[in-house]
Amino acid sequence: MIPAAFDYARPASLDEALMLLARSGGSAKVLAGGQSLLPLMRLRLASPGQLIDIGRIAELRAIRDLGGGATAIGALATYRGVLDSELATRNHPILATAIPLIGDVQVRNRGTLGGAIAHADPASDLPAILLALDATVVIRSGNGERVVGIDGFFQGAFATDLAEDEILTEIRLPATPPGAGMAYRAIEQPASGYSMVGVAAVVGRNGGSIGHARIAITGVGEVAYRAAAVEAALVGSDGGAAAIGAAAVHATDGQVVSSDFNANAEYRAVMAEVHTRRAIEAALAAVD
Ligand SMILES: Cc1cc2nc3c(=O)[nH]c(=O)nc-3n(C[C@H](O)[C@H](O)[C@H](O)COP(=O)(O)OP(=O)(O)OC[C@H]3O[C@@H](n4cnc5c(N)ncnc54)[C@H](O)[C@@H]3O)c2cc1C
Repeated sequence: MIPAAFDYARPASLDEALMLLARSGGSAKVLAGGQSLLPLMRLRLASPGQLIDIGRIAELRAIRDLGGGATAIGALATYRGVLDSELATRNHPILATAIPLIGDVQVRNRGTLGGAIAHADPASDLPAILLALDATVVIRSGNGERVVGIDGFFQGAFATDLAEDEILTEIRLPATPPGAGMAYRAIEQPASGYSMVGVAAVVGRNGGSIGHARIAITGVGEVAYRAAAVEAALVGSDGGAAAIGAAAVHATDGQVVSSDFNANAEYRAVMAEVHTRRAIEAALAAVD
């Protein structure tokens, strides 16, 4: 339960952090809230030669108004910080209802949004929420900045588009499409709060029929994903109970559904369908 020895650096600026990261040649790890990384180090599942603690870099913590209902959330913003942000929760109400389901008080006080998605745990809630919200992420290295759509960011279990010398600096959330509602429904592992299945839905009508649907699911397989077949079945339908039920049937299409001691594949697949239906119903109920 004691980590292997490591060097520790606490840079005062993002530029200094990037310089240290590049200089480490891949042996360093960025430390944010430590809620995922420190347990891994204690279990010796991770043994970085150096920790680069970005926790004091204030510029990475800001939550900014991008105008027109869009928001930028600094990678170091904690779950608690986002819950306390009137701007973020007004623009994207799913954050206010979903974040309280994540972890416990300590995890929400210390855990950062950047750390959550950089870690990319297959059972993490935030990836599904950001996929449904159509987020983009801002990534910096010594070579400059790039902005990546969230659809291409998650690449597998604990694998993302981040290179060893890159730091995630910001998550940008676009304005909610007019008339769309949003909801998150999950079945949680009772001890940790991690999702065995979690479904985020952003759904809106265009006149009488469904004009916008982004449905994303976590916990089902190795990586959170957009449920493209659900979205396709929903858009253009009347959004009634029968149409929602028929769309939700496709929740795990094309996925290899995980089996573990929390839930076998058959149960997960059924729960994915059930929670997809519930998330869509709740998203529509928020605006109907
Ligand atoms: C008891 C417990 C319960 C939990 N329950 C839930 C739950 O119900 N749902 C859920 O979704 N999650 C849950 N979590 C996970 C939690 O959400 C994450 O541990 C936390 O958000 C990670 O953020 P952090 O700032 O602590 O990251 P850290 O632990 O500091 O870092 C995690 C990883 O991300 C990297 N990293 C961090 N920040 C950056 C950055 N800006 N740029 C590049 N790389 C970076 C680190 O190098 C490391 O590899 C739980 C965790 C615990 C301990």
